[in-house]
Amino acid sequence: MRITGIRVWQIDLPLAEGSYQWAGGKSVQVFDTTLVALDTDAGLTGWGEVCPLGPVYLPAYAEGVRGGIRELGPHLLGLDPCEHGRLWQAMDGQLKGHPFVKSGLDMAAWDLLGKAADLPVATLLGGIVTPEIPLYRAISQRPAKEMAANLRSHRDAGYRRFQLKVGGDADEDIARIRACRAILEPSDRLVADANTGWLAADAMRVVNAVRDLDLFIEQPCLTYEESLSVRERTTLPFVLDENIDGLEPLLRASRDRAMDMVNIKLSKLGGLTQARLIRELCARLGLLMIVEDSWGGDVTTAAIAHAAASTPSRNLFAATDFNGYVTRSFADGAPRRDGGIMRLPPGPGLGVTPRLAELGEPVFTID
Ligand code: MG
Repeated sequence: MRITGIRVWQIDLPLAEGSYQWAGGKSVQVFDTTLVALDTDAGLTGWGEVCPLGPVYLPAYAEGVRGGIRELGPHLLGLDPCEHGRLWQAMDGQLKGHPFVKSGLDMAAWDLLGKAADLPVATLLGGIVTPEIPLYRAISQRPAKEMAANLRSHRDAGYRRFQLKVGGDADEDIARIRACRAILEPSDRLVADANTGWLAADAMRVVNAVRDLDLFIEQPCLTYEESLSVRERTTLPFVLDENIDGLEPLLRASRDRAMDMVNIKLSKLGGLTQARLIRELCARLGLLMIVEDSWGGDVTTAAIAHAAASTPSRNLFAATDFNGYVTRSFADGAPRRDGGIMRLPPGPGLGVTPRLAELGEPVFTID
C-alpha cells in the first residue's frame, strides 16, 4: 500500500460551555482543529486530527499544523503507511521537532494499518485491556462557587474523576480546591492542575493549605526544576504534564522520582507511535497515566480511546472525551461518553468516518 494523496480540512469546534479558561487568564472559545486524510492506492483512507489548545499552551498552533503538513506531505507520497518506522524516518528527516505536526499524520497511518489488518488500533497497540475507559472532566477556571456547581453537574452526569483548572491567585485556588473536594465522595478523584501558572512560593502555599485533602497536584510551575522543588516538599501525589514532552524528560523525571502520574497527550509527543513508547515505559515504571490530547473532536477522541483501551487498567487514571465538550460532531462512529466511561467504536482502524459532505472542500490537497 502506498500513500497517493493527503487532504486537509480546517474545522471550528465551538465549546458547549462557551469558553474554556485556565491559568494566567488564557482561554479558548472556538477550537481550530485540523483533519487530515491519507489516501492510498489500496482505496483505503486513514484519518488523523490535531487540535492545539490555542497558541499559548504548548509550542503548537492551529495554522502551524497545516503549515507543517504542507511542508512534510510531499515527502510522504509513495511511502507505505503501514511501515511506521519508515514514515517516522521520513518525517524526522524532513522536519526537526514539531511533534504536533506529525501527530495527525501518524494517527492516520495507524488508522490505515488497522484497516489493512482488519483490526482495531487498540489491538495493534497491545490489546484491548481496558474496554471500559474511565473519563475525567476538566473544570474550567472560574470563581470557586461556580466551579463547584459545575463539578456537581458533571458528577450528576456520571463523571467520577475531575481536574480543576487552578494556577491563578493562590488564595482563590485554595478556595476552589476546598469547595470542589467538599462535594465529592471519598472514592472520587480530584486533580488540581495549575498548568505551569504558579511560582514555587504560590504552589507551596496551596499545597500546604490543602494537604489534609485527597487530591493530586498537576504541573504547578513553568520549569521542571521549580515543579520538582514543590514535589520534594509536599506529601500530595504529583502529576507532570507540560514538562514531559518526550522520552528524555520522562527518563530524567523518573530518576528524580518527580511524579506519580504522567499526562500523555498524543500531539504533545507526536501521535500514537510516540505515545505508545512513553505509555509502555510509564507502565513499567509503575506510574499512573492520563491518556488524552491537547484538544480535539471526533477523530482525536477515537484515537484517545484506542490508546487508553490498550493501557493497563491499574495504570490508567483516566482519558478524555473531548468531543463531549464541543457542540460539533463531524464523524460517524466516534466514541461517546456513557456516564463516566467511554468504549471503543466497533470496526477496524480508529473506527471513525468523517462526514465529508458536511465539511466542504479541503483547505489544501497534496498529491
Ligand atoms: Mg495538564
